[in-house]
Amino acid sequence: MDSKLMDAAVMNKPLDIEIKKIQVPVPQADEALVKVYCIGVCGSDVHYYEHGRIGRYVVEKPIILGHELAGEVVGIGSAVTNVQVGDRVAVEPGVTCGRCEYCKSGRYNLCPDVVFMATPPVDGAWAEYVTIRSDFLFKLPDELSFEQGALLEPLSVGLHAMSRAKVTPSDRLLVTGLGPIGLLAIQAAKVYGVSEIYATDVVPFRQELAKEMGVTAVIDPTKEDVKQRIAELTGGKGVTVAVESSGNARAIADAVRTVKRGGRIVLVGMPAASEIPLDVNAIIDAELDVLGLFRYANTYPGAIQALTRPGLDIEKVITHKYSLEQTQEAVEMARTQKDTSIKIMIYPNQ
Ligand SMILES: [Zn+2]
Ligand SMILES: [Zn+2]
Repeated sequence: MDSKLMDAAVMNKPLDIEIKKIQVPVPQADEALVKVYCIGVCGSDVHYYEHGRIGRYVVEKPIILGHELAGEVVGIGSAVTNVQVGDRVAVEPGVTCGRCEYCKSGRYNLCPDVVFMATPPVDGAWAEYVTIRSDFLFKLPDELSFEQGALLEPLSVGLHAMSRAKVTPSDRLLVTGLGPIGLLAIQAAKVYGVSEIYATDVVPFRQELAKEMGVTAVIDPTKEDVKQRIAELTGGKGVTVAVESSGNARAIADAVRTVKRGGRIVLVGMPAASEIPLDVNAIIDAELDVLGLFRYANTYPGAIQALTRPGLDIEKVITHKYSLEQTQEAVEMARTQKDTSIKIMIYPNQ
């Protein structure tokens, strides 16, 4: 495999992605080489493309973005036993140390030594091939598509939100913000057996998609009072859990007064300003659980099992498909057409 070349979409600097020939990576003993079939454009990729940083992570040299992928194993290191050449796999893109307190307790998403794709300075996988430690590969059953495999990553955020809020079938859920994460959180709620799911967004296209993906009702927060409308829709009972994925400061503040007493709020969307006004007395008085969420842990095996059964339709979030050569176009679409694009897929080998 020495000195073979492949195409990769390299972001030289913000707003500048170039297709370059680079070395095909060679797997270490515990790694596999994966031929990338499809890979999503994530909000974080777009953010790095536009601003060159997310919080403390700063793009300081050219980087390959992209971390939501599935493909085929085409090479394995000498110590790999869990996958074989020819396996179709989904890639969990954060390789953790496996040794620290967080890893050992199962909360490996908090591992301080995680090497996460497309988080500077770590390269992602907008490329023909990528290597990754093989224990972060999950075999896809024949009935799952590569697209479903790639969507396991954003779906995992929703699944982790359900797990954080200890959601059960008796919960009534509100999802605020219907981007890819919010829409997939609706599907995650279905995995957890939730049947009453309410959602809010201002964009008609997203509202329609949410309906197609099985929400009970969609509310436009600029036209209706969300709490009042939910009270009407639930016969006065209200929602027990809110998953906030918009990052809108107003939506975050409203979540505190929208869930019923004893409710749980999972904060997923990051607001532009770190500090926002929040009614703390309401949180105390209603004994609310306000939960943060960082990526996900232990979600892939269950998600794959859930997707082999009927009832879920995660591929509905895919609105556009591009080749690797069109990566900049794909990211520009995601950046500028937020009202009509949800999840954009790139196909590096077609
Ligand atoms: Zn992502
Ligand atoms: Zn660790």
